[in-house]
Amino acid sequence: MKIVMLGAPGAGKGTQAKMIAEKYSIPHVSTGDIFRANIKNGTELGKEAKSYMDKGELVPDELTVRILLDRVAQDDCKNGYVLDGFPRTIPQAEVLDAELTKMGDKIDFAINVEVPDENIVRRMSGRRACLKCGATYHIVHIPPVKEGICDKCGSELVLRDDDKEETVKNRLAVYHEQTQPLIDFYDKKGVLKEVDGTVDSKDVFAAITGILG
Ligand code: ADP
Ligand code: AMP
Repeated sequence: MKIVMLGAPGAGKGTQAKMIAEKYSIPHVSTGDIFRANIKNGTELGKEAKSYMDKGELVPDELTVRILLDRVAQDDCKNGYVLDGFPRTIPQAEVLDAELTKMGDKIDFAINVEVPDENIVRRMSGRRACLKCGATYHIVHIPPVKEGICDKCGSELVLRDDDKEETVKNRLAVYHEQTQPLIDFYDKKGVLKEVDGTVDSKDVFAAITGILG
């Protein structure tokens, strides 16, 4: 099963993608996580990506597509994957589509997690991330057991640099301009499914499993 998660930054794509990955035993592939791991490890790729991420802009398509195609070519992606944060532009979606078509394959579901802009800034300022294992929390809605500490690996939780209010506003503008058109792209392919992302994360997940079966 090949799944694409759509939705604004902070809509809950990562939260849901992790649960989908666990339930259906497929890898969770997040381009944002791959970039953050590279930033943490001080790689050249990380340095380049950081200059865009810190401004709330998108990393150029060419670089992002290369990273993603390398990742989904790995063995663990043979039986499917859930993509979180990719594609984010029409050209990215077209390259992915062309690569899959070459292999006689396709995306099975594009799940759009709908959350209005008004809720997003509040969500992002409360998000806390573990840069070691990629887990995410919310200080009010999905808190860790021990404040500031990751439940899964015990590392310190941080407010991501790009979750500051001004950057979030720019990320939302970029989302509406460059990413939102993907809703139509996948609708035309007949694989678009919409879920209400404003309800409790467990209820969002129930709606998603109702779709995926
Ligand atoms: P995205 O991957 O779309 O950027 P995340 O999954 O990281 O979004 O979620 C953004 C923030 O909102 C996180 O702090 C997360 O814990 C919180 N969150 C996710 N789903 C919900 C929900 N249904 N209700 C309230 N908060 C949520
Ligand atoms: P995310 O973790 O998905 O919220 O992504 C964080 C940041 O990484 C984004 O704001 C972009 O700067 C960059 N990024 C992640 N995925 C992509 C992508 N598919 N295309 C371009 N930039 C991306």
